[in-house]
Amino acid sequence: MERLDLLFPGIQVEGMEPLAEIALDLHWSWDHSFDELWSELEPELWSLTRNPWLVLLTASRARLQHLAKDSNYLRKIEATLEARRQDKDRSRWFERMYPNAPLTSIAYFSMEFMLSEALPIYSGGLGNVAGDQFKAASCLGIPLVGVGLLYQQGYFRQMIDRNGKQQALYPYNDPSQLPILPVRDKAGEWVRIEISLPGSKVWLRAWQARVGQLTLYLLDTNDPANPPVHRGITGELYGGGPELRLKQELVLGIGGWRLLQTLGIRPEVCHLNEGHAAFAVLERARCFMEENDQPFDIALAAVRPGNLFTTHTPVAAGFDLFPPALMEQYLGAYAQQRLGISIDKLLALGRANSNDSLEPFNMAYLAVRGSGAVNGVSRLHGQVSRRIFQPLFPRWPEKEVPIGHVTNGIHVATWDSAMADLLWTNACGKERWLGEMETLETDLRSVSDVDLWQMRSQARQIFVENVRNRLSRQLAERGAAPEEIARARRIFDPDILTMGFARRFVAYKRPNLLLHDPARLIRILTDPQRPVQLAIAGKAHPDDASGQAMIEDWMNFICRQEVRSHVIFLSDYDMELTQQLVQGVDLWLNTPRRPWEACGTSGMKVLVNGGLNLSELDGWWAEAYTPEVGWALGDGMEHDDDPGWDAFEADQLYTLLEQEVIPMFYMRNHDGIPAEWISHMRESMARLTGRFSANRVVREYTEKYYLPSAAAYQSRASEKGRLGARIVDWQRTLEQNWLQVRFGTVTVETDEKQFRFEVQVYLGDLDPNAVCVEIYADGNQDDRPVRREMERGRQLSGAHGYVYHARVPAVGSVMDYTARVIPKGPDAAIPLEAPYILWQH
Ligand SMILES: *Cc1c(COP(=O)(O)O)cnc(C)c1O
Repeated sequence: MERLDLLFPGIQVEGMEPLAEIALDLHWSWDHSFDELWSELEPELWSLTRNPWLVLLTASRARLQHLAKDSNYLRKIEATLEARRQDKDRSRWFERMYPNAPLTSIAYFSMEFMLSEALPIYSGGLGNVAGDQFKAASCLGIPLVGVGLLYQQGYFRQMIDRNGKQQALYPYNDPSQLPILPVRDKAGEWVRIEISLPGSKVWLRAWQARVGQLTLYLLDTNDPANPPVHRGITGELYGGGPELRLKQELVLGIGGWRLLQTLGIRPEVCHLNEGHAAFAVLERARCFMEENDQPFDIALAAVRPGNLFTTHTPVAAGFDLFPPALMEQYLGAYAQQRLGISIDKLLALGRANSNDSLEPFNMAYLAVRGSGAVNGVSRLHGQVSRRIFQPLFPRWPEKEVPIGHVTNGIHVATWDSAMADLLWTNACGKERWLGEMETLETDLRSVSDVDLWQMRSQARQIFVENVRNRLSRQLAERGAAPEEIARARRIFDPDILTMGFARRFVAYKRPNLLLHDPARLIRILTDPQRPVQLAIAGKAHPDDASGQAMIEDWMNFICRQEVRSHVIFLSDYDMELTQQLVQGVDLWLNTPRRPWEACGTSGMKVLVNGGLNLSELDGWWAEAYTPEVGWALGDGMEHDDDPGWDAFEADQLYTLLEQEVIPMFYMRNHDGIPAEWISHMRESMARLTGRFSANRVVREYTEKYYLPSAAAYQSRASEKGRLGARIVDWQRTLEQNWLQVRFGTVTVETDEKQFRFEVQVYLGDLDPNAVCVEIYADGNQDDRPVRREMERGRQLSGAHGYVYHARVPAVGSVMDYTARVIPKGPDAAIPLEAPYILWQH
């Protein structure tokens, strides 16, 4: 904490020093046991910002001196410190399970991290995934180190003006008021990384945020030593055009990897959360080149198995593409001088067709080519991704495009309400999100109807209070009339069915599907016997006119006299607002067009709080839905943006609400309890909360990807990358000789039990050990294909070729089978590292 005293004098108050350490650990973003420290120090500022660091910085010396004499307060500090010590010493899942694993560090790169609204460096889903997984990794002791960017303005803040139009605001993030510190080296000097951009060097300042047991490093370019044109590179998240985006990605990938090197951090695994960070692959290879005196190809082959790429985009248009000329301008010198390759060779890594000099550079393609494994973020998104990345694996069946999936989940403790926390603690114990969660489902089932209903009702009540505060503040800020503000203070009813809808306002999420038939929606909301209220939130990107128009549609609807007290739009959707919504609502709505949601996480946040989901069968809900836990929209098929289908689904949505959801909520037993609703709550909580938690996610990443990846990397990289060099040799011979491979005669003998195949294959100059001949059948839609490696038999005379044999059980038609030749490498990932394939027909 050196030099903190210079930053702010308050901390010099004796006895108060530990507050800085506590305020600078974002552990407080999910553990609320110590919030009193801050609410007591500065109640108003605390309730407005929820930022302990800011509270501490702002507190007057007199206030701190006063509390320093308050034995009660000092006891709270001591208790917090003690809890922190215990938490630090606790044995964690990873250490228990894998004490000797060759996995000591995983670098997690992401363009955004959503950890707390006090650190506004996020926009939405992608940041949510990064933030929640990072927190869960801390809880489970998985040794992640985060790398991201510190934006001077973050993502825009939203205000809705008098005319119902969105206004974008860009308040400045003063780094000294964010819960981060400069990274200092041993001599106390602020660590700065240098990268080259055309015409100038750029300094990147390094910052760190503490997140429980883990550190997140952030880079920014707002260093006074930089030319003004570069100081703004990290100004805004997802702002500007392709050139600014390219510069940000260079800072993240190249600067980020260099920072880890500078700090002496040697990750075995580099996890790219989306393609934005893919330049890290190049810089990692460059570092390997330098240390081991190897050329770029071998270095890349050596480090590749240590890279994991997670793709989040369900449409090819979602990838970052850069024009070749721009790439050459920014990376030409880097390719030549640092990597020792031509810019064309670098560009080929980001192209489907390496010979097409017009094809733009695709960051996701670089990420695929530079990684030893690739995954999507839900089962359905895995399928969609195999389709999207098919161009990189020509003639390979879509099913075999090497992309798996890990369905996302959320960090439960970040999103649960105090009431839900208590209910779960009573049922499942305090450590429930820290281990394997095996007994959660059964334990939660023991909670009574009354307890569940009380929790829900209390949470709804608090939500209504929050909504009233928030809405009246929002109206006051835009200068609304006093009557209007007074009305907001009475809006909503704590006893009626409360629905929530909050997401980015973008066409594919169809945030106005509910508005399809306004008259019908009004009837639903204002039914005198069974009224409904709806809270909406969401931002539209400042460049997205159609998204902004959808916000206006809602604002116009809300103005109607008859629905005024039933629908509200809460502006400036951020983490805090999400927390209020997911903790408070009974029903969460989600209406994306399948399959464009990839995964979606907001609906998972209601699970722990006893909220139910009514959602399109897309992303995670396509895996989670059963009739016992909620409601499904759509038919599980894709219909693009067909307006006729939108109309059909709008009707389906209204009908579900009218005939199932609302009656179930209002069907009460003699104690006033909606028994069937509660039964849905219990099933949803018990079955889904653990399954869609980030706890499950990070364990899955560890076991499925990080551990094997670390082992593979170590074997490739050892002895200066000897195995990497063999891989490159093998790839070269395949490349040079693949066109010579051809099939000769194929014969099949069948009897009742077996098909016996005999296939002649000519290999040209290829070593027979470099390939594998297989007999293959497609299987049904969802089946894995049948693949049988054929045995190499006698050599054909007069040519370099062999006869291969295989037998398969005589199932189906012999016509379903075909032979093929694919590469077979020294511990290589196929087809990822050698996408060749030759079919018999
Ligand atoms: C959870 C969350 C998201 C992501 O929600 P999706 O369901 O994936 O759209 C976006 N923004 C905020 C503020 C969130 O809390």
